[in-house]
Amino acid sequence: MNVVGYKKILQLGLFVGLASLFCFGSSQALGKTVAIGVFAYQGERASTSDWTPLINYLNQVLPEHSFRLENHDAESLRRSLADQRIDLVITNPGHYITLEAEFGLSRIATLESLGVSAAKALGSVVLVRGDRMDLKVLSDLAGKRVAAVSPEGFGGYLLAAKELLHSGVDPESDLKEILFIGLPMNKIVEAVQQGKVDAGIVRACVPEQMVREGQLKPADIRVLSPRQENQFPCALSTPLYPNWPIAVTKQTDPVLAKRVAHALLSMPLAADGIGWTVPADYQPVHDLYRELRIGPYAYLREITPEGLVRRFWPWLLGALFALVAWIVHTIRVEQLVHRRTAQLRDSFNAREQAELGMRESQEQMEHLSRLSVLGELSGNLAHELNQPLTTIGTYARTVLRRQDRGNLTPEAISEACTQIASEAERAGGIVQRIRHFAKKRAAVREPVDLAHMAHEARHLVVGMMAHPPEVQITNRLSEHCRVLADSPQIQQVLLNLIKNAIDAGRTLAPQRQGIQIIVEAIDNWAHLQVIDQGCGLEPPQLAHLFEPFFTTKTDGLGLGLPICKTIIEAHGGRLWATPNAEGPGMCFTFSLPCHDLPA
Ligand code: ADP
Repeated sequence: MNVVGYKKILQLGLFVGLASLFCFGSSQALGKTVAIGVFAYQGERASTSDWTPLINYLNQVLPEHSFRLENHDAESLRRSLADQRIDLVITNPGHYITLEAEFGLSRIATLESLGVSAAKALGSVVLVRGDRMDLKVLSDLAGKRVAAVSPEGFGGYLLAAKELLHSGVDPESDLKEILFIGLPMNKIVEAVQQGKVDAGIVRACVPEQMVREGQLKPADIRVLSPRQENQFPCALSTPLYPNWPIAVTKQTDPVLAKRVAHALLSMPLAADGIGWTVPADYQPVHDLYRELRIGPYAYLREITPEGLVRRFWPWLLGALFALVAWIVHTIRVEQLVHRRTAQLRDSFNAREQAELGMRESQEQMEHLSRLSVLGELSGNLAHELNQPLTTIGTYARTVLRRQDRGNLTPEAISEACTQIASEAERAGGIVQRIRHFAKKRAAVREPVDLAHMAHEARHLVVGMMAHPPEVQITNRLSEHCRVLADSPQIQQVLLNLIKNAIDAGRTLAPQRQGIQIIVEAIDNWAHLQVIDQGCGLEPPQLAHLFEPFFTTKTDGLGLGLPICKTIIEAHGGRLWATPNAEGPGMCFTFSLPCHDLPA
């Protein structure tokens, strides 16, 4: 770092100093010694020689303070900052961003040279011997021996290290060897010249200075991956980075910081063009350090799979266990849900099958029951059909006889035919009703007239018996009570109850054979009662009345009443039996809900 020529600034600085005193006169921190810590990377003597002019200038222009130069290596500068023993720091950009992160330094100015931007002032050059035609670009250095200043050297190593990384050569692993041979940098150039190493990394402008001083011939060396930067006077292998900053610490008196900044910015350029300007942007330096994962970004080295595992293994182990547990739990839950769903589906299917089976067998039973009712009643069917057939025969023979006798009048033929047609219709009606009743069919719900059904049932039963009992029907049902039901099923219930009532009085005196049917509405329920004066039932028999296969008849099945009960309950109603309140015999009642007629 060449910062000579400050002495010549002093006369000019005097003027600026007086001006700043005028502008910023303050009593704060007066007389206090201000320590300026400098990173003396080239040794104390070189550093003192470089920075004494600046100290003198500051003492000159800010005489109320006493500025003192402190030369440090990187570690002692760190310690001094930690002990708050220095107020201002001058160091290279890389070292600055490290201290900035650690101690909260803030730059107040950046060093500049005439004709070179402060933001683009430092670069590196990678040299090989002039006759090494096999080495042209940085990537050619893979597997080669390279010399540099030190692992921390900003221009003497780090800038080139990043470019090597960019060209695919990791300086930490892809070189055959990297030799850090320290300062002065001339030693590195000499090592290249002597063939001790294949290449050397030095700060930009070092070779040009050696050429100027006669220590090197331009043809002796060649630059790898040379690049051009506007207005930069030296050969480069890397981009350019900002120059050295001067920074204040968190404890530095802000008034002092402001005075120093003002003094520095007001400092005229020295004869060799060195001066201070507004603080440059050090982001490129941050990017460099982040990429190399050093300084404040050294922690990134830990963010490798191995680093992470080494650092966070207890957490990772815990997370792994949690993950495995979660996966096992999820799979288990999934399996349970799967199994349970299958079980539910199976049981649902089984239930559906069972219900279907039950429906089918119930329909089958109902059908059988209807046939059985018919079977019992149809003992008299032949007799019943015989009546119209006999009448038909009688009329036909009468017509033939009168024809033989020759007294067949058109009126007689007409009367006979009318009677024959009427009797045939009657017989057809009986057959039709039986067929309709016996037919197998699916249940439907429709409005039914219970009284009308009672009349129909009476018609059917009475029509099939030689000596039918008297069946009296009383209808007290209001028009507003409408029953929704499957009429053949209700008809079947009615027939069963009427048949049982007839059976109950069959062996008794004719006055005990009469049956009464009452239809009425009670509390929005339609009630139909079948009352007989038959043999009745004892209480123990009553208790089993609706159980399947309970019968007191020799030829009985004991299925009629259970089926009737099932039918009525399927309609949302009830069927029950009580002794006849008016005398001997039984009263069977079923109830069905009334549905209001739509307005
Ligand atoms: P089944 O008529 O084939 O015996 P039911 O289930 O229709 O089958 O009747 C069962 C039993 O209930 C009958 O055997 C009879 O003992 C009794 N029962 C039914 N209705 C009456 C009634 N009105 N009076 C007396 N007993 C009756």
